[in-house]
Amino acid sequence: MHQILLKRLKRLSLAVERLGHGELHSYFLDFKPDELGMLNRAFVRMSNEINQLVDGLQLKINEKEQAELLARKLSKAVSFSSSGIAITNKHLEVEYVNPYLEMMLEQPKQNWQGTLLFDFFIADMQPLSDEILKALEMRQHWHGDLLLKVIPQEESTKWVSLAIAPIRDEKAEVTHYVATLQDISFIKQSQKKMEQLAYYDALTGLANRSYFRDQLRKAISMSQRGYYSFALLYFDLDEFKLINDTLGHDAGDELLIEIARRLKSRLRDDDLIARLGGDEFAVILSDIKDKVQAGSIASKLQQAFLNPVRLGAQDVSISASIGITVAPDDAVDEELLLKHADLAMYEAKARGKNTYRFFSPQLNEAANERLLIESQLREGIREQQFLLYYQPKIDLVADMLVGYEALIRWLRPDNTLVPPNRFIHIAESTGLIVQIGEWIILEACRFLARQHSRGYAVSVSINLSARQFHDEQLTQTIEQIIRRTGVDPAYLVFEITESMLMGDIDAAIKQLNQLKRLGVSLSIDDFGTGYSSLNYLKRFPVDELKIDRSFVKDIPDDQNDMDIVAAIIAMAQKMQLRVVAEGVESEVQAEFLKQNACYLVQGYYYSMPLAEQELSHLTFTINTQG
Ligand code: C2E
Ligand code: CA
Ligand code: CA
Repeated sequence: MHQILLKRLKRLSLAVERLGHGELHSYFLDFKPDELGMLNRAFVRMSNEINQLVDGLQLKINEKEQAELLARKLSKAVSFSSSGIAITNKHLEVEYVNPYLEMMLEQPKQNWQGTLLFDFFIADMQPLSDEILKALEMRQHWHGDLLLKVIPQEESTKWVSLAIAPIRDEKAEVTHYVATLQDISFIKQSQKKMEQLAYYDALTGLANRSYFRDQLRKAISMSQRGYYSFALLYFDLDEFKLINDTLGHDAGDELLIEIARRLKSRLRDDDLIARLGGDEFAVILSDIKDKVQAGSIASKLQQAFLNPVRLGAQDVSISASIGITVAPDDAVDEELLLKHADLAMYEAKARGKNTYRFFSPQLNEAANERLLIESQLREGIREQQFLLYYQPKIDLVADMLVGYEALIRWLRPDNTLVPPNRFIHIAESTGLIVQIGEWIILEACRFLARQHSRGYAVSVSINLSARQFHDEQLTQTIEQIIRRTGVDPAYLVFEITESMLMGDIDAAIKQLNQLKRLGVSLSIDDFGTGYSSLNYLKRFPVDELKIDRSFVKDIPDDQNDMDIVAAIIAMAQKMQLRVVAEGVESEVQAEFLKQNACYLVQGYYYSMPLAEQELSHLTFTINTQG
């Protein structure tokens, strides 16, 4: 009995001892229904509990170690991050900034401690703080771009992209905020550059066409709301192409820059000036009372062209033609306004340039007619509706028909005969004249060839338009036609007007010389109406002057005209030029011209311009007249 008890006690004390050494399992204790058995049971229960506690403790320790590792990793990530990171308390007072943020805003940690995040916003951005607070309350995060102060240089600022989000505790209460800041100054810079490219003209720095259109739309919608008028001015520099071509593109650029500067300095702050391309500028004059005010600003703007522009060693004079339209009076449609201003500008150009003109409904009608004629002209070219009439040129001394002037007619499908003054200027402004003109030269040369083959040694005079004359291909075209038709160039006369020779005198002389080299002769048409000075005249290699009809028509009633005609004849003789009088309608006129030694004449007195088939009996008629 003693033995048995002792054995059981020994086993229990061994188990207690093992427990003391941390061995928690496999005790061979009995649970007999006596005191010792109960003691054993209590011991095992207790040791199991200890067992569980120790296991739980171990788990906690492991978890804690894991968490610490993570926290260490996070804090490393935050401090080495290449984004600026700040942690604030729930009142947005800064508690922590990472080194990158210190560096980004050039402010040491001490400067941040306890300050509000908003303190780093520049003054203009302060209103954002309210927005941010509201957003954090509602959506609980905020994200946006803004300008921060960079100290120590108070002036300098930096664009950042800022994101703020809350940190919460277990009860979901906000305890902190974390703010990440990304330096986006370079993005902002390139954005600005892109805007610059998108909205401004690179050469002059003025607004460009697309920005101008935007502003025009805005102005229109304002004027539609009532009580607001504005004026749209369209500028086109006169003779810019000439300057560009003769002095080079660099000089042209310089000129544009200078003009842009001068125009801008004459505008009010609220007005917009844009370069629409090439040598075209446009201005929106905001809040205009009436046309009078728009006109007075236009003439002020025109003073920008008063002084010549210095380009290299040269002073260059330049002028502009300005078209003006007023909204909402003239129109409230964008395209229409632009069209109106353009029309008015062309009207200004037609009125001798260097001037401004307002849009008017009549201009619109004229433009519509022009458009109609233009499309009809194209059809005319396709359908060969043009024909040449010929007006005889008479030698009063020999009493002979010595030549013809070719004059174009347009026979419309309805059989009307359209005179050239109704369509030549449109053919000219649309460039169609080059095509038509080539046909005229060919047709006139064929006519000449036929006359010569019949034994009439007559000449033919062909009118050249400005566009044709300035066409570089002209000489070549004529040369080819001469070769093709086999005519003797000595019998060809080309008529050009004085105004075509003005402008770039040297280029004109060059062109004249090239033509002369073909063996043709050259005549200055409508002489006396232009403004050629004698000086220039001497330099032009021409053979003939044609006294304009306006001086002939009032002979013998207008003494002044008679004096002018006599003077022109005398001058022509001195310069050894042939002189022709056009528009002779009476015997008295012919007699006066003969008396003053002008022997070549043209006019209704001798013959109207006629179709070729009506000319056959003409030599005879004229011969019997004299
Ligand atoms: P222009 O070169 O001065 O031509 C003379 C114009 O005066 C012609 O008018 C002619 O018919 C007209 N005329 C001739 N004698 C008299 C007269 O005694 N009294 C009056 N009142 N008029 C007379 P047209 O044919 O209508 O031509 C008008 C203008 O059209 C021409 O003026 C010329 O500038 C232009 N033109 C005519 N044909 C051509 C052409 O083939 N090419 C080009 N580029 N222009 C042309
Ligand atoms: Ca002529
Ligand atoms: Ca003439």
